[in-house]
Amino acid sequence: MGFSAVIVAAGSGQRAGPGAAKQWRILAGKRVARWSLEALLAAGAQEVVVVIPPGHESTAAEAFVGLKNWITVPGGDQRHHSVIAGISALTCGAGDAVLIHDAARPFLNPALARGLAEAALQHDGALPALPMADTLKHQTPGGSPISTASREGLWRAQTPQAFRREVLEAAYAAWPNGETATDDASVVERAGGRIHLAPGDPRLMKLTYPEDFEMAEALAGASRVTRVGMGFDAHRFGPGDGVWLCGVKIPHGQTLIGHSDADAGLHALTDAILGAIGEGDIGDHFPPTDPQWRGAASSVFLAHAAALVAAKGGRVVNLDLTLICERPKIKPHREAMRESLAALLSLPLSSVSVKATTTEAMGFTGREEGLAAQAIATVELPG
Ligand code: MG
Repeated sequence: MGFSAVIVAAGSGQRAGPGAAKQWRILAGKRVARWSLEALLAAGAQEVVVVIPPGHESTAAEAFVGLKNWITVPGGDQRHHSVIAGISALTCGAGDAVLIHDAARPFLNPALARGLAEAALQHDGALPALPMADTLKHQTPGGSPISTASREGLWRAQTPQAFRREVLEAAYAAWPNGETATDDASVVERAGGRIHLAPGDPRLMKLTYPEDFEMAEALAGASRVTRVGMGFDAHRFGPGDGVWLCGVKIPHGQTLIGHSDADAGLHALTDAILGAIGEGDIGDHFPPTDPQWRGAASSVFLAHAAALVAAKGGRVVNLDLTLICERPKIKPHREAMRESLAALLSLPLSSVSVKATTTEAMGFTGREEGLAAQAIATVELPG
């Protein structure tokens, strides 16, 4: 299901110590706010409004380069002013689900976001919450004797918090002037709304103090898993004037025969990516019996596999392909193939390898009956 989202990234984060505002600090190679934006887009957000400090537009543009379906709006003095500015900039309908997320919680699982969006349609609001594990002690600032507070029924509220747009707008319209709200659910509660508590995620930790960034760096590494997949394909030569390999047309005295454009390189790579994420093989997604794939450009297959990775909140890390044939000679076209693959998957050239070998005139490739390709792909997924 589709939903919209607002990322609140307008704070100055003074408790996080010196340096850039925390939403723009680099965390495991990405700016903090980008982690949340990528997760929401991977979860299926149709639009994301990022509320930023006034004047930070160019910082945001740099932080979010390459991502789609986001805009920024300047925030206000207090959190609820920023949230209202963000909601106002949405284009979704009154009954649609809207997720409000704090940029300071970078490790958002896309599946959790989708679940909240669905829950918002059943309740007045939904939020992820964790039970209290620690014993609670109470002491007044003046140093009164310590007492122990019951933790029964207490929950730690996280974000994103999900609401139907009309519910949230009505609640904010009724919010008393001058009062401070620390989250959006409290605004809806005040207006009489009932909030659903969904299971929270310990990895959705909030970056508040300088030491939180060290823990987040460790978590950023630990919360990603690396998966590997392999693919193999072969196609027969037939009469023609060239072959498609890795999305590049190579002049040749023959062509490769197949249902699609018979690009064995792209087929092996597509299977490698599908293999890395346990999503079957190319024939499951694009049955050769389906006439719509007759003569299709195989770049469609590779893009589909990459989109499945993105939908899981992951990314393709690198690809390695070996083409096996006597002819055509691959070397003169190798760089064009790497560039083609890098462009198809928005990968740096250094993450894409194309190699070629012969089989010393042995076997079907040696007899030039056909061409084979084998590939390996590395994919990173949320842990
Ligand atoms: Mg094939």
